[in-house]
Amino acid sequence: MGSDHTHRRWSHLQKVLERSGPFCRPDFEPSSETLKFLMENCKLLVIGAGGLGCELLKDLALMGFRQIHVIDMDTVELSNLNRQFLFRHKDIGSSKAEIAAKFINARVSGCNVVSHFCKIQDKDEAFYRQFHIVVCGLDSIVARRWINGMLISLLVYEDGEIDPSSVIPMVDGGTEGFKGNARVILPGLSACIECTLDLYPPQVTFPLCTIANTPRLPEHCIEYVKVIQWPKENPFDCAIDGDDPQHINWIYEKATERAAQFGIQGLTYRLVQGVVKHIIPAVASTNAAIAASCATEVFKLATSCCASLNNYMVLNNIEGIYTYTYEAEKKDDCLACSQVPREIEIKDPNWKLKDLIELLCERSDLQMKNPGLTANINGKNKTLYMHTVQSIEEKTRENLQKTLQDLGLRDGIELNVADVTTPNTVTLKLKFSQTDVEML
Ligand SMILES: [Zn+2]
Repeated sequence: MGSDHTHRRWSHLQKVLERSGPFCRPDFEPSSETLKFLMENCKLLVIGAGGLGCELLKDLALMGFRQIHVIDMDTVELSNLNRQFLFRHKDIGSSKAEIAAKFINARVSGCNVVSHFCKIQDKDEAFYRQFHIVVCGLDSIVARRWINGMLISLLVYEDGEIDPSSVIPMVDGGTEGFKGNARVILPGLSACIECTLDLYPPQVTFPLCTIANTPRLPEHCIEYVKVIQWPKENPFDCAIDGDDPQHINWIYEKATERAAQFGIQGLTYRLVQGVVKHIIPAVASTNAAIAASCATEVFKLATSCCASLNNYMVLNNIEGIYTYTYEAEKKDDCLACSQVPREIEIKDPNWKLKDLIELLCERSDLQMKNPGLTANINGKNKTLYMHTVQSIEEKTRENLQKTLQDLGLRDGIELNVADVTTPNTVTLKLKFSQTDVEML
């Protein structure tokens, strides 16, 4: 920061960090050390190098952060180029994280972005522990839940109190079309992703019987071709590739036939593309606004110059521009951050294990994907159902049809549940309804 040029480059930040003001946090002490910490020591992890990720990397680098890591498992696609501005046509097929890091490092002198071309699940606790703040620009709820669980698992408790130095704040941005949100999560201290899981509607899936027998929507016809007709007729001798126009055309033609058969209107080529690729419409300006909010929150957390967002900001640009902030509440029995086993009420003593697994997937506050279950019954650890290892799946499959009672599950028994939505197993406590306990 010696030369005049670099002095001027950061002079706006210096105004904020080297002077006090009415909006400063009470514990904020103006100092030239803060900018030094921000530039030299503060280590950030950006998760996702897509629409939000490109904006985040640009914002953070221009704000003076230099120790930035970025992780993304995806490669650049043609359809990204209209908004993911760190990528060019020649980058198609290359790692988003690598290209984005290279671009920022070349464009913003002094910045050192390190890329990781992999899944977040490929990294361990030691990797995540090195960061001061984690920023997420993700489009996947499962990935959000997983990183949330990871940061919670890094918390250190002493006599029931969280060691503040073990808290890694998570700033999370999300967009869908003209809507977006930004939130600040202090793991263990404020509402986490699982505390507010009911905010995410479960993914729309159509029941197979509707698709096959009573289609009402153009989407039903497209799903029918995708799930039933394609595997049966196997027109191109391969799996569906959403980027192959021949594939989309075939599905479009077959779905149109089916729609005509049932008198369903509104089937278009674009809709076929959308359903097949699960496209969420992306709007560049929404990404820019949400990423800017997230980057500002990172800056506030890193410097304590101003109070953080408390804790959930909503942006809606569908009609005019509308935004508000509210405080999402931490749940006392949150599956991820409360350390209290969640009670699951069993109303019917004749419930089978498969019914319990369905409940874990369907409940809006759990939304598991494919849970595996073990329990300690009479002092013995018993695997009830596990799908991840084929031999165990085969051995435990018959348990799905057994009643909880036959499996030895009683009131108060704790189940250990493993699922893709969490890096660690979670504990659920079975609570049989009163009348049922008497019947047992
Ligand atoms: Zn929570």
